[in-house]
Amino acid sequence: MFDTKILDNSDRSIELAAELLKSGEVVGIPTETVYGLGADASNEDAVKKIFEAKGRPADNPLIVHISEFSQIEELVTEIPRLAINCAEKFWPGPLTMIMPKSDRVPMITSGGLDTVGIRMPSNETARKIISACGFPIAAPSANLSGSPSPTSAQHVYNDMQNRIPAIVDAGHCGIGVESTVICFEGRDSIRLLRPGFISVDDLKEITENVIIDKGVTEIVAADAKVASPGMKYKHYAPKAEITILEGTLDAYREYVKENSDNDTTLLVFDKNDADGLGLPYVVYGSTDEEQARNLFGSLRELDRLNAVKVFARCPSKNGVGLAVYNRLIRAAAFRVIRL
Ligand code: AMP
Ligand code: MG
Repeated sequence: MFDTKILDNSDRSIELAAELLKSGEVVGIPTETVYGLGADASNEDAVKKIFEAKGRPADNPLIVHISEFSQIEELVTEIPRLAINCAEKFWPGPLTMIMPKSDRVPMITSGGLDTVGIRMPSNETARKIISACGFPIAAPSANLSGSPSPTSAQHVYNDMQNRIPAIVDAGHCGIGVESTVICFEGRDSIRLLRPGFISVDDLKEITENVIIDKGVTEIVAADAKVASPGMKYKHYAPKAEITILEGTLDAYREYVKENSDNDTTLLVFDKNDADGLGLPYVVYGSTDEEQARNLFGSLRELDRLNAVKVFARCPSKNGVGLAVYNRLIRAAAFRVIRL
């Protein structure tokens, strides 16, 4: 058992975090998307500790984080031309690219796949930690498997207390939803496996051929063979039963009036949405960007309020709104009512 320390993001803390990572330990690290649980990507024992700390299924691969483009060479056997174009446009930033992995990436890191997902985060503290280590860092989101991803060091602490030695605190994550995950098909197509801040329109600036994988918006059977294993797991779920109500504010308010009871809590864009309904509510933001930043914190807040039954307003599905929708339908176990 560890006495988990929350470190500030000073140079001294970054050095300390790097020392822990070099000695094969797991550290909570900030990124611009969500907090990650980092370990030396090529050290099997260290990576194993990530899976143990999270309770993560072994076939759910980890993303490998780099701080310089040149680090990619040791990790992959081939770099598609489109990947170079994407790196030039979106790195450092919240884009993960799947490529054929080299032997330097152990199977435990790739969840048994012969590919590896790679990202260069834009968060300065994250890149400083990776640079101080001198090796790529494997890091999934720093939550217990199945819980909402952590967007603050305190969220990480709540889930990882006594399980890891340290967390580096660099404040609230700016983006708030995990990275966009893509793979390449043929020479000219990008397949979107998980939506994030880098949107479909952003990717279309690289190639017109952007395919949105079915798993982005639809339910994936537990035994299905999927391109992105994370999509098949129950995810981001607070304890409450969430139902997404898709429609106008008027239709939402009508539905709530007719179907709410003493156990109902509302998840709304703005406090005015809940005006006069006499029910507890959590606000998650009026723009796609605000909703992305606040979604996971709001799901944790619903737990704190002991919410039982939640009626959620439906995100836009445009831009980063698609990422918000993708996370919220999983939190809602795909319960969506079209009003
Ligand atoms: P997390 O870091 O918790 O957001 O999880 C990383 C997610 O990225 C996984 O659940 C997968 O969906 C995706 N991913 C990572 N590596 C690969 C890969 N090699 N192939 C397909 N998807 C991947
Ligand atoms: Mg995760």
